[in-house]
Amino acid sequence: MPVLTRLIPSPVVVDIRPGALDDLASVLSDQRISHSGKLAVAVSNGSGAKLRERIAPALPGATWYEVGGGALDDAIRLAGAIKAGHYDAVVGLGGGKIIDCAKFAAARVGLPLVAVPTNLAHDGLCSPVATLDNDAGRGSYGVPNPIAVVIDLDVIREAPARFVRAGIGDAISNINSIADWELSHRVNGEKIDGLASAMARQAGEAVLRHPGGIGDNDFLQVLAEALVLTGVAMSISGDSRPASGSCHEINHAFDLLFPKRAASHGEQCGLGAAFAMYLRGAHEESAYTAEVLRRHGLPVLPEEIGFTVDEFVQVVEFAPQTRPGRYTILEHLDLKPNQIKDIYSDYAKAISS
Ligand SMILES: [Zn+2]
Repeated sequence: MPVLTRLIPSPVVVDIRPGALDDLASVLSDQRISHSGKLAVAVSNGSGAKLRERIAPALPGATWYEVGGGALDDAIRLAGAIKAGHYDAVVGLGGGKIIDCAKFAAARVGLPLVAVPTNLAHDGLCSPVATLDNDAGRGSYGVPNPIAVVIDLDVIREAPARFVRAGIGDAISNINSIADWELSHRVNGEKIDGLASAMARQAGEAVLRHPGGIGDNDFLQVLAEALVLTGVAMSISGDSRPASGSCHEINHAFDLLFPKRAASHGEQCGLGAAFAMYLRGAHEESAYTAEVLRRHGLPVLPEEIGFTVDEFVQVVEFAPQTRPGRYTILEHLDLKPNQIKDIYSDYAKAISS
């Protein structure tokens, strides 16, 4: 008998709408995520403090933990603090750093995680990975997928625009990542998970083709859903392949070569995707990607995030070393610096016309 279906590791609850936060307590009890109401809630001392005031009355059984930063040590400290309580679940309420700390801490003490992101800066809000700073720089730690994701679009609208826009770059870069996956399949026979690639690609296409902007709730809805689906796509494939290709190698290279000057993940991935699409000869797709990124106020040229052309050439040359074993258009072309420079000048011309 053939296998007729497969189970997909995915959240039990996905609640994305304006006002979702007001119903957090009832969603957690109705879905049997928290019977007793005993929750460990990790928050930042910034945006989290304000939200704490607002929702604390609805969560009388919650203990609140302020998380300092996004380092492995912060996550270990959080795990140490919550392990003594009898909690049903850990709630991560805040930006990416808080969610990643909460993910790691929840996994360490064996509790489910409820992710309540307050911005849409990248696709990590529902992914099986926690990205944390460690002594070696930055590490990616495998963790279970969140059991619930609650995104209140009213809260997202309050976030600094830059942290919402960045998610657009990360979502759109899925299309480039899938193109890299397909390239590796053609050249090296790497296996493609069709479901994971379909979900990640559709998420990217939905954001790319949507006419709205971050001021509209219907656009924010699509963006938030795209980022959640991308996280699930990574759980299906068991790695970051559906959402991380040459665009992400370029992003990592910015972070590693210029740690003090690097822009945000989503900004660098969007720019990386527009350039990498050009590299692979998909000139029309590259121009359209750049046009959409620009419309949303995202960078498409390195100088827009404070880097010279020579620095960008250095970034692109170094990029393959950031992800050994991942085959993308960068490894495929194996370009020398002068070739990168020539193609970059063609790219810059093409997207300005
Ligand atoms: Zn990403």
